Amino acid sequence: MKEKVVILGSGESGVGAAILAQKQGMEVFVSDLNKIKKEYKDELIALAVPFEEEQHSEALILSATLVIKSPGIPDTAPIVKKIRENNIPVISEIEFGFRFTASKVIAITGTNGKTTTTSLIYHILSNAGLDVGLGGNIGTSFARQVAAGDRAYFVLEVSSFQLDNCITFKPFIAVLCNITEDHLDRYNYSFDNYIHSKFSITKNQDNQDYFIFCADDLVTMKYLPIANTNVNKIPITYYEKLSYGAYVENQQIIIQIDKNNFTMPISDLSIQGMHNSYNSMAAAISAKLVGVRNDKIRESLEDFKNLEHRLEYVASIKGVDFINDSKATNVNSTWYALESMNKPTVLILGGVDKGNDYTLIKELVSKKVKAIICLGKDNEKLHQAFASEVGYIVDTNSMEQAVQTAYNITDKGDVVLLSPCCASFDLFENYEDRGRQFKRNVLNL
Ligand code: ADP
Repeated sequence: MKEKVVILGSGESGVGAAILAQKQGMEVFVSDLNKIKKEYKDELIALAVPFEEEQHSEALILSATLVIKSPGIPDTAPIVKKIRENNIPVISEIEFGFRFTASKVIAITGTNGKTTTTSLIYHILSNAGLDVGLGGNIGTSFARQVAAGDRAYFVLEVSSFQLDNCITFKPFIAVLCNITEDHLDRYNYSFDNYIHSKFSITKNQDNQDYFIFCADDLVTMKYLPIANTNVNKIPITYYEKLSYGAYVENQQIIIQIDKNNFTMPISDLSIQGMHNSYNSMAAAISAKLVGVRNDKIRESLEDFKNLEHRLEYVASIKGVDFINDSKATNVNSTWYALESMNKPTVLILGGVDKGNDYTLIKELVSKKVKAIICLGKDNEKLHQAFASEVGYIVDTNSMEQAVQTAYNITDKGDVVLLSPCCASFDLFENYEDRGRQFKRNVLNL
C-alpha cells in the first residue's frame, strides 16, 4: 500500500521531508497552523505538493499512514494528541531522512555547544577532503540533503525535540556536549524527561558506533548508566589523565584513542574559552574516528572561523573590547562566557527568564564583573540576585541605551560582554536580532 504521509509544519525540515517523501513515491500532504513562509510555499507549489496553511484539516490528517512532525510543534498540540489517539506513527524529519540513506551519520546534541561542535566537525572533515554534508538544526534540513543524494558522512545538529520522535535513528558517532536545565516547558517540567531525551541519541547504537560525552558534566555522569551499554564510550575531561579519551594536560589537549596520540596547545585553538576546548576535543575525536590525520585536524582547529553571536569579538573602542555572546540564552552558557573573560567585565544581561537559577554564576560575577547592565522588560530577579555582588547595576530598555550606558562606565582595558542568560523575545525578534543590534550600536559609538 502506498504510504500516505502528512507533514506537520512547513519550515525547512517540513519542506525537506516533503521533497524526500515525494522522491520516494509517497503521497504527501503538508499542513501548517501558521502562515507558510513565501519561499517554502513557492517551493511546495513548484513541486506540486498539496498543502494548507493557518488550519489543520483533521479528517485529511487522520487518514495518514505516517506523520512527520516539525520539532517546533509540541506533543501537547491538539492535532498531535488526536494523531496519537488514532495510533498513527509520528516521527521527526531526522528519523525520516535516516530511513533513506546509507550514509554514516555524526550527530551532535546537548544543551549548549551543539552548533559550534557540529560546525567544527564539518569544517575538519570537509577540509580533509571528505564527502560530507552539514544539516539538522543548522542550514539545510537532513531530509532535503538525503533526497539530493548520499554523502560519505552527514554531520547533524539534533535537538531533543528531534530525538523524541526518532525510532531507528542510529548515528555512527553521537556527541552529547552537556546537559543543563532548558526547555522544561516541553518536558512536563521534568528535567528527568529532558535528560532521557538527550540520552536517546545512543539508544540504537551498537559496538561499531561511538558515544562521545563530557565526563566533567555532572548530569551526564549521573545518567551515564542509561546510555546504551553496547556503544563505545569516549569521555572528555579537563581534570584527569585518561587512558582512553580526551583530556587537558599542561594547557594542551591530548586525545588518546588510538596509537597515534593527538596533541595541541589550547592557545592554538581558534575558538577560546573552556567550553570551546570541550567542543574542540569532541570535534577532534570525531575526526580521528573517521580517519582524518592529526596534522589536518590541527590545521582546521586553528583556522575555524567563530560563529556569529557566540563570544564573537566585535570591536575595540578606546581600549574597550566588545563581545557579542547573544546566543547565551541560559545560565550555563553565560557561566562559560564569564569563565573565559580575563579583563574587568561590564556584563549586559537580561531578557525572558526561563526559570533561571542565578546562584550558578554568582561567584564568577563577583570575581570578574564590575557592573551589570540589565536589558529586559522585567529586571527584578537580576537585581535580587546580583545587587550585592557588583558595585553598579542599572536598568536599560533598549540596546542603544544598554551599549551607551556600558560604554560610559568602562575604563581602558575593560571588556563589555553581551551574554544575556535569557531568551530575547521581550525586546527583540530573536537572539540574532539582539546580537546584530548590539554590534550596530557598538560600531556607532
Ligand atoms: P547550541 O547550538 O547548543 O545552542 P552554540 O554552539 O550555539 O550551542 O552555543 C550557544 C552558547 O553556549 C554560546 O553562547 C556559547 O558561549 C555557549 N557554549 C558553547 N559551547 C558550550 C559548551 N560546550 N558548554 C557550555 N556552553 C557552551
